[in-house]
Amino acid sequence: MSEPRALLSSVFGFDSFRPGQEEIVSAVCAGRDVLAIMPTGGGKSLCYQLPALAREGVTVVVSPLIALMRDQVRALREAGVSAGALTSATDEAEAEEIFSALDAGRLKLLYMAPERLARAGTEALLRRVRPTMIAVDEAHCVSQWGHDFRPDYLEIGRLRERLGCQVTAFTATADAETRAEIVTRLFPETPEVFLRGFDRPNLDLVFRPKDNPRAQLLDFVNARRGQSGIVYCASRARTETLARALGEAGHSTLAYHAGMEADARRHAETRFQREDGLIVCATVAFGMGIDKPDIRYVVHADLPKSIEAYYQEIGRAGRDGLPAETLTLFGADDIRLRRAQIDESLAPDERKEADHGRLNALLGLAETPHCRRRALLAYFGETPEDDCGGCDTCRERPELHDATEAAQKAFSAVLRTGQSFGSGHLIDLLRGVRTERMRERGHDELPTFGVGKDLSKAQWQVIFRQLMGLDYLRPDVTRHGALRLTEAARPLLRGEAGLELRRDRLEGAARAVTVAP
Ligand code: ADP
Ligand code: ZN
Repeated sequence: MSEPRALLSSVFGFDSFRPGQEEIVSAVCAGRDVLAIMPTGGGKSLCYQLPALAREGVTVVVSPLIALMRDQVRALREAGVSAGALTSATDEAEAEEIFSALDAGRLKLLYMAPERLARAGTEALLRRVRPTMIAVDEAHCVSQWGHDFRPDYLEIGRLRERLGCQVTAFTATADAETRAEIVTRLFPETPEVFLRGFDRPNLDLVFRPKDNPRAQLLDFVNARRGQSGIVYCASRARTETLARALGEAGHSTLAYHAGMEADARRHAETRFQREDGLIVCATVAFGMGIDKPDIRYVVHADLPKSIEAYYQEIGRAGRDGLPAETLTLFGADDIRLRRAQIDESLAPDERKEADHGRLNALLGLAETPHCRRRALLAYFGETPEDDCGGCDTCRERPELHDATEAAQKAFSAVLRTGQSFGSGHLIDLLRGVRTERMRERGHDELPTFGVGKDLSKAQWQVIFRQLMGLDYLRPDVTRHGALRLTEAARPLLRGEAGLELRRDRLEGAARAVTVAP
């Protein structure tokens, strides 16, 4: 059996599981019958696709949605996985190809439309190929009382009886009657049921822009002396400098990263499990095997990679159900670093685009003026009715500030200088600072020169960070982080769309500049 985590990144290109996926995948891989209820968009398909690849033999997937099956088959094939779909839209040649892949034992995933199940020959075919598992997508279609009832779904239970293989079922419909009906119609005995909302209400959620990250971290940790916590860092070097800084402030700390000897890592893990009040400054290598219920906080000293990674990492706090805190610090440097890591990776272009998209979603969460927990849960497909009251944006609802004009000025500075400069030079240009570089390039002659004098340098930095966060401006790693406009910026530039940014961020920057010129 292949390692699920390795497949997660090599085949699917994801760096972490989404909430719930890992537990489901391991139950499925262990051969257990499973009913999983996850919200739409929560990532159900991975829960049967990954076990299908991790194990021997072929997995049959029943789904009522032909378009969705075709999309999944296409995506799997592009990732180098042998998969096929038998639906009303499958032509003769394609079916032949699937049969021969099946007979050669090559096919890993066979998607089948429900109407195909009752067809003559299907049972014989399945008896011959002996599937490892039947995975039933949209399993609520088996419920006679639901609006999506598909009579053909009843055939699944009969086939399962005759084939005697593992069954897994997935749905977003959570009501108790439907669930009970799925269980009786599809499973020989009560399966393992996964029904867990993604919300972790005992986790307090806070994001702060970095102004002085070391001081921000010390303030946070000093106010929580004696508590166990994890401080996640983007690099090995930073785990060491931050552990040293916390140690100097009188905390008991350890650094942890994958570059350490195995012995030292094991030693750190054991100490963290056993001792109270130890703070581990770690890269994301720390945490997988850690089972400590009373971690009172998780700080991200640097921005994580994606919302999935963020959720997984903060999720290590407060497993005992008692209140626990999370703090995420982020700045323009983090955005540049994460973009550069994506662009410099050897992944194909589509995967890089997807990774940029995931980073954008996280930056959107970082800058949201609305309830942060709702934004987080919405990303995973859950839609809570109310604001949570347990996040920074609920405690203090940020006011918005119309930044359309400032954004247009910034875009014009980018365009008039040929999309070849980073934010430092662009901000000098907007503020009318006659540096040597400005004169050399003749940029002090541009109409944009000095049009942004009304804002301080720190305020412009905040605006540029938010424009990068919203992916209107993207740093180009091959050109030392020169900023260029993305397509998303065009409507704003043409005046067809407006932009509102958080006022508190701008005002914070205005204050910062008076304290530290
Ligand atoms: P569902 O069937 O639950 O509605 P899907 O399986 O179609 O959801 O997944 C929804 C989206 O989430 C897809 O775009 C998929 O690529 C993405 N996704 C699933 N798992 C992960 C993961 N571990 N990390 C990042 N994205 C994921
Ligand atoms: Zn909230």
